[in-house]
Amino acid sequence: MRKDVRILLVGEPKVGKTSLIMSLVSEEFPTVVPYRAEEITIPADVTPERVPTHIVDYSEAEQTDEQLFQEITKANVICIVYSVNNKTSIEKVTSYWIPLILDNTDKDSRVPLILVGNKSDLVEHSSMETILPVMNQYSEIETCVECSAKNLKNISELFYYAQKAVLHPTGPLYCPDKKDMRPLCVKALTRIFKVSDMDNDGILNDNELNFFQKTCFNMPLEPQALEDVKNVVRKNLSDGVCDNGLTLKGFLFLHTLFIQRGRHETTWTVLRRFGYDDDLELNQDYLFAPLKVPPDCTTELNHTAYLFLQSVFDKHDKDRDCALLPEELRDLFDVFPYTPWGPDVNNTVCTNEQGWITYQGYLSQWTLTTYLDVQRCLEYLGYLGYSIIAEQESQAAAITVTRDKKIDLQKKQTQRGVFRCNVFGDAGSGKSGFLQAFLGRNLMHQQMIKEEHKSYYAISTTFVYGQEKYLLLHEVFPDLDYLSDADLACDIICLVYDVSNPYSFEYCAKVFKQYFMDCKIPCMMIAAKSDLPETKQFYGCSPLEFCRRHKMPPPQSFTCNTAGAPGRDIYTKLSTMAMYPHARLRCMCTCNRCTFCLCQNLLNSELLQTVRAKLHAVVLRRHVSQADLKSSAFWLRASVGASVCALLGFAMYRVLLKTR
Ligand code: GDP
Ligand code: MG
Repeated sequence: MRKDVRILLVGEPKVGKTSLIMSLVSEEFPTVVPYRAEEITIPADVTPERVPTHIVDYSEAEQTDEQLFQEITKANVICIVYSVNNKTSIEKVTSYWIPLILDNTDKDSRVPLILVGNKSDLVEHSSMETILPVMNQYSEIETCVECSAKNLKNISELFYYAQKAVLHPTGPLYCPDKKDMRPLCVKALTRIFKVSDMDNDGILNDNELNFFQKTCFNMPLEPQALEDVKNVVRKNLSDGVCDNGLTLKGFLFLHTLFIQRGRHETTWTVLRRFGYDDDLELNQDYLFAPLKVPPDCTTELNHTAYLFLQSVFDKHDKDRDCALLPEELRDLFDVFPYTPWGPDVNNTVCTNEQGWITYQGYLSQWTLTTYLDVQRCLEYLGYLGYSIIAEQESQAAAITVTRDKKIDLQKKQTQRGVFRCNVFGDAGSGKSGFLQAFLGRNLMHQQMIKEEHKSYYAISTTFVYGQEKYLLLHEVFPDLDYLSDADLACDIICLVYDVSNPYSFEYCAKVFKQYFMDCKIPCMMIAAKSDLPETKQFYGCSPLEFCRRHKMPPPQSFTCNTAGAPGRDIYTKLSTMAMYPHARLRCMCTCNRCTFCLCQNLLNSELLQTVRAKLHAVVLRRHVSQADLKSSAFWLRASVGASVCALLGFAMYRVLLKTR
């Protein structure tokens, strides 16, 4: 909202400018007035729109032209005063004052004008007949008003209109020539309609209208008022109301009506609530809420944000096939000023057989944007109306900034949901294949991807001991001269070599020694293209020996040249290592069947966690009611049982590990 409003009064001498100002201030007609009133400031709390308002007088006798021009540039709104009983002063409005003001203001940011006919007490007839044609001629003229400083008629109204002309200008909303809303205003209101139409049926039903009303005006509509609104639309438009709800046409009609009846503050309230500024652009404060992301922290979407995005998906997946066809995706992005996702997104996340982004894939892409470019994510959420629909303070409420990774490592625990794996390897070693295989695509499928649609990222979910986690794979450009900080910062590193190319392992060894030998990030060697005959690598030692020497797991055979979808085990292993980078009892098995996995599952199971939490609560709680006692006794027994199980399991796990 604007800081203050500056109103300037101009016009021929003796039309009553100074008297008008003094009448407003003292609420009585001054018999003696100076040439020029001092500038006055009306404090915010006594003005109708609650903005501090400055009122500035002009006097030819006391001010130079230069001073007048300066005041014109400083003003937010200009009242051109004439006297209704003085023909010359009326003529001068068009012959002198309007041209002078237009010459001294920017074409792009023209100030609104108000025509003021003073001394209405002196005449019987109105000057409106002469003035209306002038109004139609200049779109800058917001309104005209007749008043009298002498009998205080319309004085406060005059200043209210002036304030309103600044705070709720008609200019950006309405074109008086065409007698219709301007295209930018239609565009903004259309977006607002689409965001508010939560079931995407093209109609605002009573629930949606009430939510809209509550969001914009802080109160729901009375049922009768709701019917009245719909009746007004029905009367004027054949297709404005459909199935007892408001169509887009009806919604736009209603706003045109508001504006035409001088109630454009209603439309402005709606526009501002949905993030628009005076130029009808979404303002920066709405799109980019401040968010601090300290180093070693990452950004993820929280639960409410996922719920919101889920509802957006459901609203657009009209055929309910859990994937967004191109038209559905286009419809989803209709509230954006541009299409945010290019064809590369289809090669970054999971798609269905037709190549359309699935529900999983859709959430993955959001997760990726949040992780890589949180500002962009906030912007996108803003276009979707997240803060409004999910009733949050700002778009930033969607984001969890994770704990510093150093603390995670210290505490050997992490709450993160996204783990980043940077994939290194020489040109042609099979990195892209490794990324695409994560999305379930075998070699044949990958060969159909166009060069310009390739992606250097792949993201999907994996299960780490029963918990769903995102794994983000990033293919690092092989030329080490171009490494960025982001290429080196990650949760796990993959070094990929081609088993059929004797020169490809050397690159992995070099990257490892140069960047990762002394860092704590776990590394995994991938022996790619394992379907091809293996050749001896031209390097001082074998890959297996290299891994042993540097305390890495042995090279993992991998191929994406499979009949069906390539195996996923390797990705689960990567996520597990990323999540538990220094688990002393690290077991690389993630089969989910052996004792190791079962023990891990038990330790991480939600039941055990809840039981633990309950136990805590019971032990710590002071006042326990009778009913509570019963249930706490149960929980106590349950948790003791579960703890014993866990301990036994854990002991078994260690014994088994020793015998290995
Ligand atoms: P300015 O030069 O435009 O500032 O005009 P003034 O405020 O000095 O007023 C000029 C003359 O018009 C004074 O004699 C005022 O008393 C008189 N006047 C101002 N407003 C009114 C009004 O509404 N009705 C009548 N009858 N006289 C007015
Ligand atoms: Mg004066």
